[in-house]
Amino acid sequence: MYQAFLIKYGEIGVKGKNRHIFEDTLVSQIGNALKPVEGSFIVRKENGRVYVEAEGDYDYDEAVEALSHVFGIVGICPVVLLEDEGFEQLAKEVISYFGKAFPHIKDQATFKVVTRRARKNYPMESMEVSAALGECLLDAYPNLQVDVHNPQVVLHVEIRNKINLYSKSIKGPGGMPVGSAGRAMLLLSGGIDSPVAGYMTARRGVKIDAVYFHAPPYTSERAKQKVIDLAKLVARYAGPIRLHVVNFTDIQLYIYDKCPHDQLTIIMRRYMMKIAEHFANEDGSLGLVTGESIGQVASQTMQSLAVTNEVCTMPVYRPLIGLDKQDIIHISEKIGTYETSILPFEDCCTIFVAKHPVTKPNLKSIKKSETHLAEKIDAYLQEAIETVQTIRIEAGE
Ligand code: ATP
Ligand code: MG
Repeated sequence: MYQAFLIKYGEIGVKGKNRHIFEDTLVSQIGNALKPVEGSFIVRKENGRVYVEAEGDYDYDEAVEALSHVFGIVGICPVVLLEDEGFEQLAKEVISYFGKAFPHIKDQATFKVVTRRARKNYPMESMEVSAALGECLLDAYPNLQVDVHNPQVVLHVEIRNKINLYSKSIKGPGGMPVGSAGRAMLLLSGGIDSPVAGYMTARRGVKIDAVYFHAPPYTSERAKQKVIDLAKLVARYAGPIRLHVVNFTDIQLYIYDKCPHDQLTIIMRRYMMKIAEHFANEDGSLGLVTGESIGQVASQTMQSLAVTNEVCTMPVYRPLIGLDKQDIIHISEKIGTYETSILPFEDCCTIFVAKHPVTKPNLKSIKKSETHLAEKIDAYLQEAIETVQTIRIEAGE
């Protein structure tokens, strides 16, 4: 019954000059999101509004699902568009719309009509239109009552070139449209946290690339597939992702061989950051993103984070820094990554972890241990970078 959607977006931060950039990005992201949906759509801006109009038949549920993943959207209002054929015809259409849109309003229900005239040559004032349509609805549905303060249903009638009827708003994901901020490199593992960190960064309008470190044969092909699957889930929100898969085996074995085992994790993480920063520079990223949260594990104490951070020249963003594990799980369930994240495949960190890793690493002592790697580490880093496999990830189940 709906030929179009009116897209509501947040206004905060998009005043003035930036507004059209925000809107244009939103329009293009909506277009991308709707590509796989059955049907053909026109997305356009009109008077500070964004409309999605279907050309002919389309799959309503799929379209709503796709739109509910587009950052920047606060509400999705399904709209009926009517030609202006006089008030009587409008009243008929409104009555029929109400019956179809709310088939279950049998008992008492309260409503009000809100009319806006964007076209001032319409022969009735807005208030008159609202009052008259209200009367017609009361006549047609005896169980209805008008409540102007706290109605269950608000019927919006907007008189534009066509007349717009809408009364439902489906919640959008909020945030800023992807592409309205810069680009960042996400360190994506197979865990619960980093996909959530990617989602939260993309939600601020940042375009995401990702890097995953694996250690075959210590980590399996299935562990890698799990990360690819997670990237696909994140891409439903973030758009296409370039995923760099880096072979980390030689570096890991070398560290294992040369450095104290209680420092393994921290030294490994420093090399991960270095390599991630290399690809970030190549891709034009302005920062790194991790799923770290203070105190979650030994490598995420304030001291450990400081030592890890020390190798980076780029800002490192940690969007989960203040969240409890339960908060993070909650978001991962909401965005649909949780089930995949908890599949039991080793990621490269779990195999080489020491029983008692340092929790308060000292930078000097870490650097001293790293001098034991002087002979071959540069060659190994070079090789890890040269043998990278870059996969273009599209949104998927
Ligand atoms: P996650 O749930 O994201 O795996 P975690 O709780 O397991 O996080 P760590 O293993 O300490 O924590 O990793 C901290 C962060 O380092 C991760 O959130 C991720 O950003 C990055 N990271 C860890 N392992 C890898 C890996 N194999 N490839 C890419 N990034 C990684
Ligand atoms: Mg992990």
